[in-house]
Order: sequence, then C-alpha cells, then structure tokens
Amino acid sequence: MSQDSASEKNVPVIELRHVDKHFGDLHVLRDVNLSVGRGEVLVVIGPSGSGKSTMCRTMNRLETIDSGEILIEGEPLPQEGRELARMRAELGMVFQQFNLFAHMTILDNVTLGPREVLGQGKEEAERYAMELLERVGVAEQAHKVPAQLSGGQQQRAAIARSLAMRPKAMMFDEPTSALDPEMINEVLDVMVELARGGMTMVVVTHEMSFARRVADRVVFMADGQIVEEGSPDEFFDHPKTQRARDFLDSIK
Ligand code: ADP
Ligand code: MG
Repeated sequence: MSQDSASEKNVPVIELRHVDKHFGDLHVLRDVNLSVGRGEVLVVIGPSGSGKSTMCRTMNRLETIDSGEILIEGEPLPQEGRELARMRAELGMVFQQFNLFAHMTILDNVTLGPREVLGQGKEEAERYAMELLERVGVAEQAHKVPAQLSGGQQQRAAIARSLAMRPKAMMFDEPTSALDPEMINEVLDVMVELARGGMTMVVVTHEMSFARRVADRVVFMADGQIVEEGSPDEFFDHPKTQRARDFLDSIK
C-alpha cells in the first residue's frame, strides 16, 4: 500500500462519538465510539441483540440517538430536513431483506433514486444503472421485476441500486443472512470486488471467512458496547476478552 492511501485511512468518513441510545428501558447503545476511515472495510460482529443493526441505522439517522454525535466526513448529521436527506443519500444501505420495489423492474429500481433525488435524466441514469447491473452480474435481469430473480440476484440488484447514488460509504447489515447457502458467495464476491475498488464499507455479518479475507478491522459488539476491536488476525486468533472467545466458540 502506498503512503498516501495508508494516511487517507486516517480521514474518517463516518465517526460516532459517545453515542447512547435507549429503546424504553433498554440501553441499546452504550457510549459507542467508532471511526471508519476512507477506503476502510470494517466488519461488525457480535451476538444477536447486541445493537449492531441499531448502530448501523443511527449512521444515517434511520434511528435517532439520545446523546453523542455522528459525523459524516467531519460534518454533524443534521436532525432533519433537506440536509439530512442529502447526507442520507451519501451512505448506501443494504439490508438482509432486499427491499426492492416489487412492482418495478430492476432497472427502474436502480434509476429511481438518481432520477428523483439526484435529478439525473432518464438516459444518464439508465446508462449508469446498466453499467452497475453489469458489474454485479444481473444486467440480463434489468427488465424483470424482483420476484422473477433469485434471492442472490435480488441482493446484487439491491447493491447496484445503492451504488447508483454514488455513496461515500456502503453499509451492509447481514446482507447474506436471508439467502440460500448456494447464493451467499455470489453476493460476497460482489462485496469483495467493491472493497478491492476502495469503497468505504461497514459490514455486519456472520461470514467469518469474508471478515478474515476482506476486513481491515473487526469490531466486536456485545450488550450495546464495542467490547473489542482489532485486525482480523488479532481478533480471530488472539481475542482479548472472554466474551469474544465465547462468541467465537459459539459460531464454530
Ligand atoms: P443486532 O442487530 O445486534 O441483533 P439490534 O440492534 O437489532 O441488534 O437490537 C438491539 C436490541 O434493541 C435488541 O434487544 C432489540 O430487541 C432491541 N430493539 C431493536 N429495535 C427496536 C425497536 N425499534 N424498539 C424496541 N427495541 C428494539
Ligand atoms: Mg441485526
């Protein structure tokens, strides 16, 4: 890696400072501090219910926070309004459920955001959409509706839809958890390519081989806290806490 790209990773694209959140009596995020550098691939792992999805959702304010700060490229995430809509569009999000619009073709799904939010013309939006669909390997499905695609194809189309907004970073919340096993790799392969292309990524996943191979850093969450973080080798081979050791044993 060149000196330049190494130091670029010190510029945070996403930063959480002392973030706290409750759902009623449940303290779901506890003093979470996290910074994601440019081009960094951060993998978040931890037991179910530990707050991983909530943390991701706070990053584009799909969830509010009780206290603390969230900064995108150094700018505080606004509470509401047009500025929030603009900044939200800068973080792509891919969920376990693909969330494609069922009544629209794949191509229309991918061009909707660029046309409505970015104000692109039909031709420009479609040209880039087809390029992205090609890149994720579903260009031949462009004129079909989601139900005509396999789960793996739908998730790849959902990734293309997010990329069409030219996001500063991509967040993936268990993107392969709803897929049949034989379709998991085709989605992970697209994510590996994105990572290689320098995309800043936050990935919540139970796919440990992906984490080992692609993550720059692994964050382990439990009970709403970041309990441990380190390089994949450090974390998987030499976990520092008993909680992390117990979790890693439980998923073997
Ligand atoms: P994870 O993604 O790590 O499984 P979540 O962030 O989904 O964890 O959930 C963390 C905790 O917050 C869980 O106990 C969950 O039941 C609770 N929770 C999540 N969303 C809500 C909500 N909208 N209202 C109330 N409780 C919630
Ligand atoms: Mg979750």
